Amino acid sequence: MAEETFDVVVIGAGPGGYVCAIRAAQLGLKTALIEKEKTLGGTCLNVGCIPSKALLHSSEMIHFARNGAAAHGLKIEKPEVDISTLRKKTETVVSNLVRGVSMLVDKRGVKVFEGTGRLVNGTTIEISGKDKKTITAKSIVIATGSAPVELPFLPYDGKTIVHSTHALSFDKVPEKMVVVGGGAIGLELGSVWSRLGSDVTVVEFLPRIAATFDTDVTRVYERVLKRQGLKIETGTKVTGVKKAKGKTILTAEKGDKKLEFEAEKILVAVGRRTFTEGLGLEEAGVEIDEKKRIQTNERFQTNVPSIYAIGDVTSGPMLAHKAEEEGVAVAEILAGQAGQVNYGVIPNVIYTDPEVASVGVGEDEAKKEKIEINVGKFP
Ligand code: FAD
Ligand code: NAD
Repeated sequence: MAEETFDVVVIGAGPGGYVCAIRAAQLGLKTALIEKEKTLGGTCLNVGCIPSKALLHSSEMIHFARNGAAAHGLKIEKPEVDISTLRKKTETVVSNLVRGVSMLVDKRGVKVFEGTGRLVNGTTIEISGKDKKTITAKSIVIATGSAPVELPFLPYDGKTIVHSTHALSFDKVPEKMVVVGGGAIGLELGSVWSRLGSDVTVVEFLPRIAATFDTDVTRVYERVLKRQGLKIETGTKVTGVKKAKGKTILTAEKGDKKLEFEAEKILVAVGRRTFTEGLGLEEAGVEIDEKKRIQTNERFQTNVPSIYAIGDVTSGPMLAHKAEEEGVAVAEILAGQAGQVNYGVIPNVIYTDPEVASVGVGEDEAKKEKIEINVGKFP
């Protein structure tokens, strides 16, 4: 027998889920939010956007103190990195924000359950963990997000071979670090540790880094990052990892050349995959595609009419603001309104220095699609 029943139950309290729950409650729907972690906010607030941006900010200031301040007539004697204060500062930024989200959710009257939600069928969810119980809902919104992709020949050990979560809280600046993947995470966290003093090499499989941006943007971008001290090897295929004289060495191939990179830390940042473990998708009959993304229609509805899905667990760019927009839209649809997302205008930004950003159709795509455009360039 189910203990409680709701209009909407949201599984996962990341930017998709918590925004959806708040909007649904605002619109008068009796709403519950299930989160398996102790804090709300998901990947973005706890181990993603927010801590990485806090580190980017701090490391930018340290870099400026070391390399730019003197030109402004600012004398700073030997700036040093105090890693424990740096980490505490990041933790404070995160904890203030997740506390803020909890307050917002409570204020709107959303019922929060701490535990892992599993679909029993299209309207019933079993919660295991702290708030163990079974609840029912007229509509269920899946917002369980994503997790780092693991390369089979570079399994994470959390010490030498790490993913983004580990790379947010190293206890010292690694002397040498290799980043596998020149996308948003690789370039942002690579920049952070490089600015803090690490010798960082980014190894990218494709012929250029940040390949979702226009070619003329990435050409300049790569040059600027290299000038800042980042080493970048594009068109390079990682083949494995080995130990030699107690040192860890990443092996790779660039055309006919065999390359080796000694590394204290190897950050693997080759993308993220949908997270649906233990969710009971099969039991509930929810369809996924070949990349394990939950399939939805333009109303965010899966093939099971009472089950909806938003954010990283579905298709489209894995971005917090995309998840949030979908959260708002699905809540509005469930409240009988006409919620929608304009996928043509989702901004994409990498928050290095310089930041690179794009929105809508870029020059490369326009040329490929034979769309007539005017191109303007200015320094
Ligand atoms: P998530 O934020 O992943 O939240 C899903 C939540 O569901 C998690 O809290 C999880 O614990 C919970 N959950 C999963 N399964 C269950 C279950 N069965 N029961 C209960 N709870 C469950 N995006 C940007 O737009 N800008 C950035 O600057 C940016 N920086 C990033 C930096 C890093 C290092 C990383 C890793 C990501 C970054 N992203 C950024 C991407 C962004 O974090 C994601 O796109 C966003 O968090 C997706 O939101 P979501 O709600 O779909 O999922
Ligand atoms: P990504 O898809 O942005 O970049 C991964 C990179 O790794 C690509 O350039 C890819 O060509 C490369 N790659 C893949 N396999 C490889 C291999 N075997 N060897 C070498 N290179 C390889 O993924 P990410 O950087 O891991 O980020 C994950 C997600 O998080 C993305 O969807 C991203 O949008 C999001 N994110 C966004 C921001 C932001 O908006 N500023 C910041 C961080 C993360």
